[in-house]
Amino acid sequence: MVNKATILLVEDEENLHEALKLNLELDGYEVTSAYDGKLALEAVNKEFFNLIILDVMLPEVDGITVAENIRVHNNEVPILMLSAKNTSADKILGLKKGADDYLTKPFNLEELLLRVQKLIDKSNRLQQKQTIGNTYSFGNNTINFNAQDAITYNGEKIALSKKEALLLKLLIENKNEVVTREKILQIVWGYNVYPTTRTIDNFILSFRKYFEEDSRNPQYFHSIRGLGYKYTD
Ligand code: CA
Repeated sequence: MVNKATILLVEDEENLHEALKLNLELDGYEVTSAYDGKLALEAVNKEFFNLIILDVMLPEVDGITVAENIRVHNNEVPILMLSAKNTSADKILGLKKGADDYLTKPFNLEELLLRVQKLIDKSNRLQQKQTIGNTYSFGNNTINFNAQDAITYNGEKIALSKKEALLLKLLIENKNEVVTREKILQIVWGYNVYPTTRTIDNFILSFRKYFEEDSRNPQYFHSIRGLGYKYTD
């Protein structure tokens, strides 16, 4: 089954919120609702989204501040900002603080759906990294992803669990780049199922044990505190 794109919808006007949610769901998206800025930030911290639709005028924390906060940790998720204000100063501020696109209320629903589609397509294209083949070698290790096993630097053959193989593939395909915890959880553990960060840490510790000649000074598998994990070779 293909995973549906997930959207965080942040809008406090209930009627508009319901109308947008219904239409997005009819278009095949999975929608998570937040009715104020504080709840929006909480949702972003614990779930992965393909897109955020963000109203500017919100209770608790306004949309501009929400966008600014999201961008501190997550530069990738597209943000479509909605606002009743129609001054170019607001639009510029919104875009400056991290929005990718901006719609002024009242807007045409078709136009919103088109822009949502465009933003999600664009981010999917950006996320498609170079894919690696069925086997991958680094140092004296060779991983066989289909067989879910590996020959390690000391000549030992080890079996990998499906999740181990998936996580290795994800990290290696994003070589030299930090892969966020949210992305790892989404891709390896599946949609919106949340094991603790500790679980990923334990996988990384296993990888070091298997593949690093000096597991206390890892050369390949790195934890980037507060952000995620990175593979380098
Ligand atoms: Ca509002």
